Amino acid sequence: MAVQTLGETWKLGWQVRARCLWGAPNPHSRHKRLWIECDTTVQLDMATLVWTRGYKFPLDMLQSRLRCPKCGQQRLTVFFEVPGEPKARTVKSIGCAASRARRSSRPSR
Ligand SMILES: [Zn+2]
Repeated sequence: MAVQTLGETWKLGWQVRARCLWGAPNPHSRHKRLWIECDTTVQLDMATLVWTRGYKFPLDMLQSRLRCPKCGQQRLTVFFEVPGEPKARTVKSIGCAASRARRSSRPSR
């Protein structure tokens, strides 16, 4: 059975990290390179999340409820670190707004 709620991840000892990474065109670059506006990664406290959101809070909604404290953006990526799993298998949240936007902007065939 797939893990679907915050409470389940907390029970299983998962860790959760949120990352804000975005850039804007650098006005001083002749090659239109991006200027990193924010690159912030924070380890979130699972117990606090469960206390504030509830045991049955769906994992795919977590990303939409977070906001970067540095820049105020809500375009965050949420990563779940599963104990005993190598970093390469870290589970990326399926509710990522950035990937959803990319998918919807693709032309349909
Ligand atoms: Zn940010």
